[in-house]
Amino acid sequence: MRIFEDTYRHKGMRKKLMDILREKGITDESVLAAMNNIPRHFFLDTALDNIAYEDRAFPISDGQTISQPYTVAFQTQLLQVEVQEKVLEIGTGSIYQATVLAEIGAKVFTIERQKNLFDKSKLYVFRGKYPNLKFFYGDGFEGLPTFAPFDKVIITAAAPYIPPKLIAQLKPGGMMVIPVDQGEQQRMLRLTKNADGSYMEEAFHNFSFVPMLKGKERG
Ligand code: SAH
Repeated sequence: MRIFEDTYRHKGMRKKLMDILREKGITDESVLAAMNNIPRHFFLDTALDNIAYEDRAFPISDGQTISQPYTVAFQTQLLQVEVQEKVLEIGTGSIYQATVLAEIGAKVFTIERQKNLFDKSKLYVFRGKYPNLKFFYGDGFEGLPTFAPFDKVIITAAAPYIPPKLIAQLKPGGMMVIPVDQGEQQRMLRLTKNADGSYMEEAFHNFSFVPMLKGKERG
C-alpha cells in the first residue's frame, strides 16, 4: 500500500508554486490558500513526486490528464466560489480540482464519464476529510438534475458547445466557467445566468483541454 507523506520539501515546493501562480496573475487568496494546503503529489504517481509542483499538466491513467496548476487556479478564481455554495464539476479526473473546491468549503458534486476513473474515487486519499465532496458516474452533458440548481458549474474538459442542460441547472445569478472548443485550443468563458434564463458571456484567454465526450464509458 502506498504511504502518503507531505514533507517539508513538498511544502517548500508548493509554496514556490504559489509564488509562480501569483506572478502569473492569480490574486484570489482563498484559491491560493486552498492550493497551498493540498499536497498535489498525492494525486500523481509516486514517480512524479518531484515534478508534481511544476506548473504543468500530467498524464494520469486512461489517457486523461491532471490539469496544470495555473489552469486550476484560473478557473477556480473565475468561479468566485463562496463557502457552502453548490458547485457542479464536469470531469473528475484526478480529483485535484474537486479537492480545491472542497477545501474552499463548497458543496462539490463531481461527474466522471469513465468508469475506471470514477472507481478510483473509492480509494480517494482524502476520503472522510471532505464530506462536502460527492462523486458521480455519468455524462456531464446531462448534469445532475436531481441535485440542481447549482450556484456554480465548472467544466474541466474541452466542450464542443455550451451544454443547454447545464445552463438550465444553474441558479439565476449563478456562474459557469467553461473552456469552449476552437480546435487545438479552447477559449475560457465565464457565463452569468440572468433571471430570465439568458446569460451574459465574458471571454478570457486560451487553454488546452482533453475533449468533453458524449455518453458514459464502461472500460
Ligand atoms: N478536473 C480534472 C481534470 C481531468 S481531465 C482534474 O483535476 O484532474 C478531464 C476529465 O473529464 C477526464 O477525466 C474525462 O474523462 C472527463 N470527461 C470528458 N467528458 C466528460 C463528460 N461528458 N462527462 C463527465 N466527464 C467527462
